[in-house]
Amino acid sequence: MNLFLSWIAEQEEAGVEVRIRGRGHAMTGDARGILLVEDEAVIREAMAAYLNANDYLVTEAADGQEALAFFDHEKHALIILDLMLPKLSGEEVCRTIRRDSDVPIIMLTAKGEIADRIAGLELGADDYLVKPFSPRELVARVRALLRRVQLSDDSPGETLVFGELAIDLAGHCVTLNGEEVVLTASEFKLLVTLARHPGRVYSRMELIEKVLGYDFEGYERTIDSHIKNLRSKLTDDPRKPHWLFTSHGAGYRFENPYA
Ligand code: CA
Repeated sequence: MNLFLSWIAEQEEAGVEVRIRGRGHAMTGDARGILLVEDEAVIREAMAAYLNANDYLVTEAADGQEALAFFDHEKHALIILDLMLPKLSGEEVCRTIRRDSDVPIIMLTAKGEIADRIAGLELGADDYLVKPFSPRELVARVRALLRRVQLSDDSPGETLVFGELAIDLAGHCVTLNGEEVVLTASEFKLLVTLARHPGRVYSRMELIEKVLGYDFEGYERTIDSHIKNLRSKLTDDPRKPHWLFTSHGAGYRFENPYA
């Protein structure tokens, strides 16, 4: 472990939040695992070093074009993607990758850019992180997201069927009138969570814990974005819902129209 990393470790053991802002010490990070796309070299290198120290293998990309050039389905289990990038924006990169991959994506945005965060999620990112963030938080999110994808891969061979809507838990596949509906890992987990208990109202915080696998205040709007995407993919009209209902002031619920 190099000096920079041991310093971070000491700070965190002492309960001090470390914010990556200053100069980082780069480790050689280039292998399987995570594609890290960030144009600010100091931040990117510090993140890569911290991820490396946590046994992730990082491929670094410094702009949107590199991101698309370096992304490898076989090699990368997750992408960390900065929104504001030279050459090709994070949005463009996300949209392009989503055309043929449901690889988990964590979007990085500058502080307070709520519109950007929501835009990122609507493009199919699974999660977002606001700068400046602590390296520990980054690793926690990466772990949570990878664990979630792993868990949904290990679901028992069960299919939930509600008339024209079928949710195959083991196959990680949703069909509507026999046609496959392509969902991101987060959207799938959210739908399964709600559909397992039709009629039960889940608060946004509950859904964040179940779906995103962590418990941070202030991320409730993440759930609203995922619900919005799900509704659009299931062609569910929020004003006259068939499946996904808003319980005003309380949260969301799934209803089985055939029950
Ligand atoms: Ca940037």
